[in-house]
Amino acid sequence: MRAMVLEQLGPMTDGRPPLRLADIPQAVPGKGEILLRVSVCGVCHTELDEIEGRLPPPRLPVVLGHQVIGRVEEAGPGAGSFRSGDRVGVAWIASACGTCTFCRSGRENLCPEFKATGRDINGGYAEFLTVRGDFAHPIPSALNDSQAAPLLCAGAIGYRSLALAGIRDGERLGLTGFGASGHLVLKMARHRFPRSDVFVFARKEEERNFATELGASWVGDPSETPPFKLDAIIDTTPAWRPILEALRNLDSGGRLVINAIRKEAGDRDALSGLDYAAHLWLEKDIRTVANVTRADVREFLALAEEAAIRPEVQLYPLEEANQALWDLKQRRIRGAKVLQVG
Ligand SMILES: [Zn+2]
Ligand SMILES: [Zn+2]
Repeated sequence: MRAMVLEQLGPMTDGRPPLRLADIPQAVPGKGEILLRVSVCGVCHTELDEIEGRLPPPRLPVVLGHQVIGRVEEAGPGAGSFRSGDRVGVAWIASACGTCTFCRSGRENLCPEFKATGRDINGGYAEFLTVRGDFAHPIPSALNDSQAAPLLCAGAIGYRSLALAGIRDGERLGLTGFGASGHLVLKMARHRFPRSDVFVFARKEEERNFATELGASWVGDPSETPPFKLDAIIDTTPAWRPILEALRNLDSGGRLVINAIRKEAGDRDALSGLDYAAHLWLEKDIRTVANVTRADVREFLALAEEAAIRPEVQLYPLEEANQALWDLKQRRIRGAKVLQVG
């Protein structure tokens, strides 16, 4: 089968395409697994973290991609009641142990045995993939394939971030960074918290204009000060300085939720400017959001269907995965990037 394969880690530069188009053997579904013929796969910033070694896959070569829409080709023994042709999605969570205290308390995202699609098992930058049947998600019929793919990570983790931000209707919400997840959180917030103003901090003017189009009440550069203190801010940037700016802009008792699996080293020195009185005092909370649970994915898919939340999507052919990743690295972002595979 055709696959875009990651064979070697290193910094993304213009001259070095990180993935290679290869013909690799198609996996056979084992016990409890299904084989999917991939239709589309979303491109996520986490792939850059894997390629550049901040989140190294345990084995190379590996096929990246964890926002996969496909159709069941074959079900292995004990995989559940799948029929050939059923449309399902696969998200970042590929498996968890099911027996640890985290799994038993609805926090399988924190399971020490957590396995990730496109890191610990081969993902969706390929014509086929195998996955555990109980970690595949039915896709609501109202969503087409390319609309559904970004909901599986950008949307589901955005949903989890918004829940951790603890927003009540009417409270002021800030979004720092405005990529695939940020733009879906804005759409979600407009639906669930119609009286809440949303403040968007983004470096690029295109991103700020896009946020205004989608209903942000205020937009500005992360270094700017909005006219009000905010009750919660969700950070989706790969940088450190926006964390300080966000803490400065939080109201007393405000919550900062950092939705980033890794931060880049570039501006880590900014943390030396952390000032207790300005940034932390007055009961400000900081939390990170880690991975997703199957419930996050399914609840968000249902919400997207009910509220007609559709991502803005940019399509690339599978063979142009390197270009999609490069455009993401360069923050040429308008919505979510999706690879057309089959
Ligand atoms: Zn992702
Ligand atoms: Zn577990």
